[in-house]
Amino acid sequence: MVGSEQAELATSAAPFRVGIVGGGVAGATAALKMAGLGIETLLFEAGDSLVSGPPICHLHAGGNLYREISDEQCIALLEQSIATVRAYPDTVNRRPTVIAIPTSDAGEPDTILKRLEQLTLHYKTLIEQDADNEVLGHPEQYFTLYDKHDLARLAQQSLPDNPQTPDDWLIPVAKYMPHDKFKFPLVVVQEYGLSVFRLAATAALGLEQSQNCRVHLNNTITQIEPLTEGWRIESTDRDGASQVHDVDFVINACGFRTGKVDDLASFSRKRWVEYKAAYVAHWPSQPGMWPEVIVHGDRGTPQGMAQLTPYANGFVQLHGMTHDITLFDGGLVASTEASAQPNLPQHMVAKAGGGWEWTEIRERTERAISHFSQWLPEFEHAEVGGKPLCGAQQIPGEDPSLRAADATFEGERYARVELVKASSALQAADRILAHCEQHGWISLPAGWENPTLPLTVSLDSDAIVEKARRLAINRDYPDALALPFPQQ
Ligand SMILES: Cc1cc2nc3c(=O)[nH]c(=O)nc-3n(C[C@H](O)[C@H](O)[C@H](O)COP(=O)(O)OP(=O)(O)OC[C@H]3O[C@@H](n4cnc5c(N)ncnc54)[C@H](O)[C@@H]3O)c2cc1C
Repeated sequence: MVGSEQAELATSAAPFRVGIVGGGVAGATAALKMAGLGIETLLFEAGDSLVSGPPICHLHAGGNLYREISDEQCIALLEQSIATVRAYPDTVNRRPTVIAIPTSDAGEPDTILKRLEQLTLHYKTLIEQDADNEVLGHPEQYFTLYDKHDLARLAQQSLPDNPQTPDDWLIPVAKYMPHDKFKFPLVVVQEYGLSVFRLAATAALGLEQSQNCRVHLNNTITQIEPLTEGWRIESTDRDGASQVHDVDFVINACGFRTGKVDDLASFSRKRWVEYKAAYVAHWPSQPGMWPEVIVHGDRGTPQGMAQLTPYANGFVQLHGMTHDITLFDGGLVASTEASAQPNLPQHMVAKAGGGWEWTEIRERTERAISHFSQWLPEFEHAEVGGKPLCGAQQIPGEDPSLRAADATFEGERYARVELVKASSALQAADRILAHCEQHGWISLPAGWENPTLPLTVSLDSDAIVEKARRLAINRDYPDALALPFPQQ
């Protein structure tokens, strides 16, 4: 097996032991990467399955959803997204994203056009460095622009059953979204979708077959104290039974609760936590196969960005960046001098754990449907499709608009992973591995930075989908969210 073969390469005499706290995409990716390199890994997850935190539906391959972020962040998101597709190919829904700016918005398409050119050049360079990086299609088609005449032409074409080209994907938009509501050009960009359920399934199946990783589900880390060379961590299971584990290195990957473990370890940290929700709608009369559609707007205003993310069988996930849809009053909170853990209102913590009332689900989902229907009148026929996908996102530092962040260290033997976007998980794991090698605790084989995860490469795609469907059903979501879209 690849993992155990590499164990000899990766570790010297005494096995180096890493304790990972939190089994979201950050912790599970670190475990897959490290155990795949033969490093002894203990993964502790408070919940009963891996990758069950906030939603992950969009691959931010270029950061084009965010007009306000720097070009550097966009480049970082592009690089990290390419690595993510290579690491988790079965989780990707390969369809493009349409970006539209409404006439009611003060922004102009030009703002993102220069950046798209820069991203294309960078994508080309990445492919020159390694041909396996060509996972977002041909670089010449990374983005395509459409003017009003193009849209009028596409509106005359029939809806394709099996869209392939950017033109094909734009046909439903051209047919059903009123052209006079948008500024031109419209952009079709190769930012794909991700299924959080197939990601969870890949992580679970990959770690199941590892001899180097022990996964402790239903175990919360309740104490952590420093040793001369490492940490003693105490886990408590659902029955209240505790166990201690001595590790050489600790990774705090607790998502929006990262501050709690920072507090236990007496490390201060500035961060934000923001509670948000996306809504599941069903659109049985959906005409044709839809791309993801983003209608830009000013965050936090009634015209905040609207996002429609398509899944199989007419299900869609919706965001509306207004305070009565995705955002919540009082939902963005900062850490304090006294605690690294920002204090979210209790009802939001409860919601993050699934504690939603159906009246509110209906109310907010219906608002999300109406919000998008301003740009797509046919979408008024959509209905509530399930529970919201929600959770809190942590944002390290002082700038709440930061979108690309990964790992930081306290002293030599403590790392924390603070992801704003799931695609940064692999880079976080790599940064920690490089840190451990620099300290002489491990020795990494040539090519270790290759994003492919040895523990998952041989997984069967159908087994991933089947496991993902079961996870979706167990978590009370439509299994359509776990199915590949478009169907392979
Ligand atoms: C509404 C919304 C939409 C989003 N959409 C996208 C998107 O489209 N694309 C994207 O890339 N990102 C998206 N994100 C961000 C993305 O969800 C997060 O970046 C990502 O899920 C963070 O993963 P994580 O592993 O750091 O945290 P989590 O997934 O929260 O995992 C942390 C885990 O740690 C466990 N834990 C906590 N404390 C302890 C403890 N003491 N002991 C043991 N276990 C513990 C928790 O149970 C949890 O499972 C979205 C976020 C939100 C809120």
